[in-house]
Amino acid sequence: MTDCIFCKIINSELPASLIYEDDHVIAFMDIQPVNPGHILVVPKIHKELIAELDEDLTSRLFNVGAKINLAIRKSNIKSEGINYFLADGEAAGQEVFHTHLHIIPRFQNDGFGLKFHKTYYELPKREELDEICGNIKQLME
Ligand code: AMP
Ligand code: ZN
Repeated sequence: MTDCIFCKIINSELPASLIYEDDHVIAFMDIQPVNPGHILVVPKIHKELIAELDEDLTSRLFNVGAKINLAIRKSNIKSEGINYFLADGEAAGQEVFHTHLHIIPRFQNDGFGLKFHKTYYELPKREELDEICGNIKQLME
């Protein structure tokens, strides 16, 4: 994709701090880190959503994420925990439409977090959970 920032990084047309690269996956430092050590793991093929990747490539993406997790834990980067974040679609917060997995080192009071709507604190009935569960379950391949 000619106007995709991540494709340009993959093709060395834009600068990036590369941390990992193989034939199918690349990982580099996020240009606007939530915390130091914030890394993006990206498939080399231009696909917008996880649903467009084959199973092997999805596995590779998360395996590279796991290797980075271990390296961060061994490093001197401040990291009491690690968030994996993947914005799969615009409504989910995706801004760069070339799928990518965020690896974000976290520590107490780092100022980052999720916001919940008010009704989040009212737990749904079991029947409701079961109904949604059944809907999704029957569509799993
Ligand atoms: P998302 O909202 O999940 O699509 O996240 C896109 C991420 O890409 C953000 O965290 C940006 O800071 C990051 N980003 C945008 N441009 C670049 C770039 N040139 N190099 C590295 N990271 C980038
Ligand atoms: Zn792309």
